[in-house]
Order: sequence, then C-alpha cells, then structure tokens
Amino acid sequence: MRLIFLGPPGAGKGTQAARIVAKHGIPQLSTGDMLRAAVAAGTPVGQQAKAVMDAGGLVSDEIVIGIVADRIEEPDAKKGFILDGFPRTLAQAEALDKMLEGKGLKLDAVLELKVDQSKLVDRIVRRAEEARAAGQPVRKDDDPEVFKTRLEAYNRDTAIVAPYYAKRGQLTEIDGMHPIDAVSAAIESALSETVRG
Ligand code: AMP
Repeated sequence: MRLIFLGPPGAGKGTQAARIVAKHGIPQLSTGDMLRAAVAAGTPVGQQAKAVMDAGGLVSDEIVIGIVADRIEEPDAKKGFILDGFPRTLAQAEALDKMLEGKGLKLDAVLELKVDQSKLVDRIVRRAEEARAAGQPVRKDDDPEVFKTRLEAYNRDTAIVAPYYAKRGQLTEIDGMHPIDAVSAAIESALSETVRG
C-alpha cells in the first residue's frame, strides 16, 4: 500500500501516519523526521537545511526529492509506504510521479486532513506544552511565530498539491477536526474503500 498524507502543519499527519504504521506494517516516510535526523547528525544535507527549517521555510526541492528517492529504495519500503510531509510543492509531486513511474508503481491513495487553520496555532502551542511536560525536546519550529511562517509556506506552496491529485481522482478528504480516534476511524474507512490491497 502506497499512501500520501497531505494537510497543513499541525493537522495530525504524523499522529495518524504512526497509527497506519502500527496497523498496516508499512513504514512512515516523514521528510521532516529525515531532515531533523540529518540536522542532528550534522550531515551536509542537515547543515544546508537547518537554518531554513528553524525559520519555518521549505527546504529546496532538490534536497528533499533526493532524500525521498534514496529512502524509497530501502528494503522496508518495498512493501509500501506512507509519505508524511511530502510532496510539499508541485515540483515534488511531479518528481514523485516520475520516481514511481520509473519503478512501475502506483499510489493507492492520497489522504488530505482538512482542518480549521485558525485552530492550528492553539494545537501547536498544546503540542509544545505536552512535549515539555513529558520531558521531551520541543521542536524549535513549534514556536508560535515560526509556526505561522510554516502555515504561510503551506498556503503559498503546498495547498496546490491536493488539487493536483484531486484532478486525477486520487484525493480523499478527511475531516481532521474530530478527536484522534474518530479521525483514525475515518481514515481506515477511506482506505478500505480506495485500497485494493
Ligand atoms: P514537518 O515535520 O513535516 O512539519 O517538517 C518540518 C520542516 O522540515 C518543514 O517546516 C520544512 O522546513 C522541512 N520539510 C519537511 N518536509 C519538507 C518538504 N517535503 N519540502 C520542503 N521542506 C520540507
């Protein structure tokens, strides 16, 4: 099963993708996680990406497309994957099409988590508070001001990705404003309708 999760930052993509991983046994390919790992490891990609990420901007298409192309070659991605945080631009969506085409693979579903953007800043403040309370590190880009920049980047560059898939009849919209379990149930029901196995 090959899936894409779309939706603005803070929509719950990471949370829901982790549940799909647990239920369906396919890896979650989060470009945000991969980039944060590269930053932590101090790799050349990490060094290039760090400042942009801290400021809430988008890392270059070239870098992100490169890491996804490498990642989907790994053995665990052979049985499928769920892309979380990618594609984030039209150029990335087109590059993904080419990568899959080259391998003779198709996407099974593109899920878009629809949320009320005016509620997202509150959500992100809560996410930071919960992480702090649990003694976990708080993401630098979960600062409310940086978060607003991330939301602007989403509306400027990423919001056009959903219509790209909708035009091809591949998009399923999910109401992401319900409690986490209800959103998971809606996703599972959508998957049982769209995924052939
Ligand atoms: P995320 O964890 O998905 O919210 O991503 C955190 C940050 O990583 C984003 O704000 C971007 O700076 C960068 N990033 C993650 N995925 C992408 C992508 N597909 N294209 C460009 N930048 C990305």
